[in-house]
Amino acid sequence: MVELRGQVRSFLAEELDRFPGRPDIINGFDAAFSREVGRRGWIGASWPETLGGRGWSAESRFVILEEMLAAGAPVLAHMVGERQFGPLLLRYGTDEQRRRFLPRIASGEAFFCIGMSEAAAGSDLSALETRASPVTGGYRLSGAKLWTSLAHLADYAVVLCRTSEHANPREGLTQLVVNLRSSGVVVAPIHNIVGEHEFNQVFFDDVLVPEGDVVGTVGEGWRQALSELTSERGGPDRYLSNFPLLARITEQLRLDPDPRASETIGRLVAHLSALRSLTEDVAVALAAGREPSLEAAIVKASGAAFEQDLLESLRPLMPPGEDRRALLAEATLRGPSYSIRGGTREVLLSLIGDRVLRA
Ligand SMILES: Cc1cc2nc3c(=O)[nH]c(=O)nc-3n(C[C@H](O)[C@H](O)[C@H](O)COP(=O)(O)OP(=O)(O)OC[C@H]3O[C@@H](n4cnc5c(N)ncnc54)[C@H](O)[C@@H]3O)c2cc1C
Repeated sequence: MVELRGQVRSFLAEELDRFPGRPDIINGFDAAFSREVGRRGWIGASWPETLGGRGWSAESRFVILEEMLAAGAPVLAHMVGERQFGPLLLRYGTDEQRRRFLPRIASGEAFFCIGMSEAAAGSDLSALETRASPVTGGYRLSGAKLWTSLAHLADYAVVLCRTSEHANPREGLTQLVVNLRSSGVVVAPIHNIVGEHEFNQVFFDDVLVPEGDVVGTVGEGWRQALSELTSERGGPDRYLSNFPLLARITEQLRLDPDPRASETIGRLVAHLSALRSLTEDVAVALAAGREPSLEAAIVKASGAAFEQDLLESLRPLMPPGEDRRALLAEATLRGPSYSIRGGTREVLLSLIGDRVLRA
């Protein structure tokens, strides 16, 4: 593992400058970077070799991702495919779907986005209104998804939609892989608070989705989506968004020690270490086919708190006139989104509390 970590680190030290992403505080979307990482076998490294992976351990995949995030590498192009769609297919997909999608995700050639939230369905996801009706050869999909990150750059969306009506709204949902170049798909931009085109509203107008692009079992979408959310919530991307800022300020403080700083840095590192240890356990549990949804919710809730605390804590330690102030300002504007994306803080804390009280 030490050798792999060293290889990833030297690749990033030597090559990262070639990719014009946004290092420091966000992980940019860079298809060329993802292809380069894929060429080295570092996307989906824990997947079987027959499906484009390397057959390596969950820890190896964790080490690669951790190094990439810590360096602020532009990993977003392959992030969703590797983090949650690949694992979803390994768990619920058909052999044909695995052969069709996984090697292209692993080589950095097929990019995915998450089609869950809608205007009237965020925390209350089962209230979603996007519907698909069976037709000859597949389904016709109509509706709209909201806050779909990077849909304008992705090739496919994994869409949670309603395929039948039930008294319990969590029944009758189905997951479809939708090719975003299909006729009837319109991707409309939404700019975030820093003015960047990050989100979209994605409209589906009678889009034909072939039968072979239904993921798993029709009507079982709720259970499958919860499993997908465990992969989405429990990884190091939930607390390393601003790690490069911490690393740089720590470097500066080493050169010019500030007695106010030790306790702050100590507190942040203690929190980071606990998150890291829990996240490694989540990675191992997921790879073993278990579903550590409670642990993943803890990583997500606690990771968001860490990310927000980091920004507030580093602010007074920032040397005056330092150009990192602009980055800190931007990170601060993004800060509130950490406890909304992937499930809000309130919803995750309720979920954790419920699980504990029902145990
Ligand atoms: C940066 C970012 C990226 C995102 N990317 C995607 C994406 O790619 N794909 C996608 O599908 N979605 C995406 N989302 C959407 C995200 O999943 C939703 O914003 C989130 O689930 C909350 O839903 P909502 O915005 O509808 O808020 P609401 O659910 O309306 O919540 C509003 C407030 O009410 C609180 N609340 C709601 N229900 C409860 C409850 N039962 N108990 C206590 N409090 C409650 C919430 O905590 C929140 O504070 C993204 C969001 C962000 C910020």
